[in-house]
Amino acid sequence: MGATPYWQIESAVTGVCWPALPAPGGASVLALLFWLERTQWLTLERLREHQLRQLQVLLRHALVTVPYYRDRWGGAYDPATPLTFERFTALPLLTRRELQEQFEHLKSRSVPPGHGGIRESKSSGSTGTPVRILKTRLSGLFWNAFTLRDHAWHRRDLRGKLATIRAGIPEGEFEHWGAATAGLVADGPSAVRGVRDSVQSQLRWLEQQQPDYLMTYPSIAAELAKLVISGGNRLPRLREVRTLGEQLAPEVRALCREAWSVPVRDVYSAEEVGYIALQCPEHEHYHTVEEGLLVEILDEQDRPCAPGQLGRVVLTSLHNFAMPLIRYELGDYAEPGEPCACGRGLPVLRRLAGRVRNILVTATGERYWPTFEPRSPAWPASIRQRQIAQIEYDLIELRLVSEAALSVEQEGRLRALILSRLPAGFRLRFDYRAQIARSSGGKYEDFVCEIPARLTDGSR
Ligand SMILES: [Zn+2]
Repeated sequence: MGATPYWQIESAVTGVCWPALPAPGGASVLALLFWLERTQWLTLERLREHQLRQLQVLLRHALVTVPYYRDRWGGAYDPATPLTFERFTALPLLTRRELQEQFEHLKSRSVPPGHGGIRESKSSGSTGTPVRILKTRLSGLFWNAFTLRDHAWHRRDLRGKLATIRAGIPEGEFEHWGAATAGLVADGPSAVRGVRDSVQSQLRWLEQQQPDYLMTYPSIAAELAKLVISGGNRLPRLREVRTLGEQLAPEVRALCREAWSVPVRDVYSAEEVGYIALQCPEHEHYHTVEEGLLVEILDEQDRPCAPGQLGRVVLTSLHNFAMPLIRYELGDYAEPGEPCACGRGLPVLRRLAGRVRNILVTATGERYWPTFEPRSPAWPASIRQRQIAQIEYDLIELRLVSEAALSVEQEGRLRALILSRLPAGFRLRFDYRAQIARSSGGKYEDFVCEIPARLTDGSR
């Protein structure tokens, strides 16, 4: 598969249009993409060798220029000894709370000049306290290269129109898709709209836009698809729904296929590190972007999870020398998978289970990522919104926005469905509401754990 399936590279030199000579920034992105096309096929062993070479440089830099690591590691890291994967994974974890509290101590005192200007960015704060992080210009370079990898993997026609519905970015109509393509690859226009409107007005807006690609949160894609299935206008040009920002339930893929006959392609990213994983071109699971990050999935004893075992996402950002994140515990849960049949050596994440607040926990500390067969006929058609919350170790609250009150029989069927998906011993109560709000970051959660003791600990 070529790197640029449909793309025309834009030249920055007057009088030369083919082969194009892009401007230096764009040339660096294409150079990275050239390597990414090759590194994706390396075996995991070879990928780890390359990562260790880069880690050796990063760890030395952190030890010498970042007070936090100098204090924290003590003698645990000796830069004179060659780094092995075992030695690396013996280093302590950095929690989200430590990143919040130790911000000043995590700043590098001396960033190599070639890494470009430093800027601060902030997470959306949907978990409560936002997380601040420093990044260099290189973060943008890698972000753009991985964006192009995602476009290449899914063979997007970049001359098409992109419509985006999400929070936290400037709204309006634009000549380009975004920073990764503008001035580098001939691309089409894009339009961005926030999430505050009703789903009806979002669909009307999309009908005006007639996009080839739609990018939004899974919860919004699902609502739009339901509206279309129930008789709303279709979007005849639409080729793909791109999702981000929330857990993508299999139901959303099914709804988008039914509404528009298009696939859903999901990405997994976080403000602190950029892209974490992209959907495989041939499967519905994800490949971690190991050229930018070392991704570990760890159990509660900090041991690597086996395929199929849900664990905590721990990340090391390979190129952020302004604020190195080394074995950073993001606060998300994911499940590793077996090596992919597509042939790429990049490790597989089979499921992304979201934040700790989206994980059910029992009084004995066992963790589950519950799913509730959202397409089961037990869910009455009158239900507009739903959210399932764990209130106590044995109590579940089912929050419903419904156009009509549910009968005793309907409630009974729902209760049976939900309790059948949980460990034994749970009780369930119903809570009817006028609306279920999105979080401050504009996102929507199907399942939330609201046991107070767990919410006071910001790190896990
Ligand atoms: Zn694959």
